[in-house]
Amino acid sequence: MRKGKYVLPAGNGRYISMKIVFLNPPHRLSISRRYRCSYHSPKYLLPPHDLLQLATCARECSGAEVVVLDAIALHYTEAQVCDVISDAAPDMVISVTGIDIFGEDMACLDRLKSAFPDVTFGIFGYYPTGFTAEVLEKSSMDFVLRREPEKPLSGYITALEQGQSLETVKGIAGRRADGSIFVNAEERIQDLDQIPFPDYGLVDLGRYEEAFFGKRCGAILAARGCPFSCTYCAPTYGHVMIIKSPETVAAEMAHLIESGAQSIRFLDDTFTCNRQWTIDTCKQIIHRGIQIPWSCLSRVDTIDKELLDWMRRAGCERINIGIESYAPRVLERFNKKVNPEIINKQLALIRKAGMQIVGHFIVGAPFETDADFAETLRGALESPMDFIIANILKPFAGTCYFEEVSDLIEFNLLPYKCAYKDPSIAVIAKKRYNRLYLKFYFRPIVFWRQFHYLLRNPARAVQMLLMLLR
Ligand code: SF4
Repeated sequence: MRKGKYVLPAGNGRYISMKIVFLNPPHRLSISRRYRCSYHSPKYLLPPHDLLQLATCARECSGAEVVVLDAIALHYTEAQVCDVISDAAPDMVISVTGIDIFGEDMACLDRLKSAFPDVTFGIFGYYPTGFTAEVLEKSSMDFVLRREPEKPLSGYITALEQGQSLETVKGIAGRRADGSIFVNAEERIQDLDQIPFPDYGLVDLGRYEEAFFGKRCGAILAARGCPFSCTYCAPTYGHVMIIKSPETVAAEMAHLIESGAQSIRFLDDTFTCNRQWTIDTCKQIIHRGIQIPWSCLSRVDTIDKELLDWMRRAGCERINIGIESYAPRVLERFNKKVNPEIINKQLALIRKAGMQIVGHFIVGAPFETDADFAETLRGALESPMDFIIANILKPFAGTCYFEEVSDLIEFNLLPYKCAYKDPSIAVIAKKRYNRLYLKFYFRPIVFWRQFHYLLRNPARAVQMLLMLLR
């Protein structure tokens, strides 16, 4: 394991003896929580990459004893989580919070804090970063790690070790002795190559899977940030994109394979954003002889034939594409900056390169008309996509879309409430959501595409059969 540069303490060789539980809080649904979003599907569960990364940094850089408790993967109830915390007797519990389940997560964490009042509780995630003071005022959390959590946590532990005030630590927010709250500005990590690779030995890899890729799915975040400005989106860590070197990405893939991963999901907001970097990364993967199926997220306006050929050669089997809509009006309101006429032509390039396509859609914007939705449906049915994932548009506080519809919604951070005042908006959204799924999947061509794909990938066919039999 490589050492990161946030070594604690600088030069004196003393390590603080601190035990930290990194908690993915329990929930009744199979939620994949990330800093900026929470995916939910009964068919897959991604590893808690942000927590694993943070836990590994805390151990490698400060010598803290770490435990990762993924209550989602373990199907643990809150009572079972209490038992684990009680047995572990940590000094600190640090948790990531979801976005649309933010209220439930905070309620759970507040109950845990009241069960363990002597344990220091910290959180990180989208709302704790954007609404830091309010979150601290309205919860019993002791501190917040703002935006990228690794450096603030390292600084926090260093300050404890050296008896310094936490108010000097960048990216930390907490309470002073008199109960007042301080919020320190954060700074981005400029050199992601210095961060140690997440240690997947801290969790049971066999509990994570990408849909129809089988179990033992690892994850890599090769870049942080996204330069686009889609109105509804809270891009991970901001608009400035900072990337790992292609050599580091290939080395991290090799590390994941050594840890037992059988597939990899790249979590980057847009893996193909920097064309030359993507090609160089693929070349590195090929150069090192790394053979593992992987998938990523992309946009139709950032792909071309040459790039896709390199990705396929490097093992990419599936690209998740944010389509959102085929209606020009809706795309414009989303500031997607994509001409709908190019969408299916670009998707055809992915299919021709031999990769699966998962199209992601957003339905239910108050400004989406029946005619807009009909265009989206027609575009989806004419597309070469293998799968679709439909989402109902939700206004996340802090996004441009939230500001745009603020008069139409009732919002409260804690207890969390975010709903359109007019209930018919949600009813129409749900109908369109169901209709998109039904119309897309109940067609022979979808089964034929899967059959054709499996004929070309017999190993995957066996894997899928085993999954269906489970
Ligand atoms: S491209 Fe994706 S990650 Fe970037 S702003 Fe748009 S939706 Fe968000």
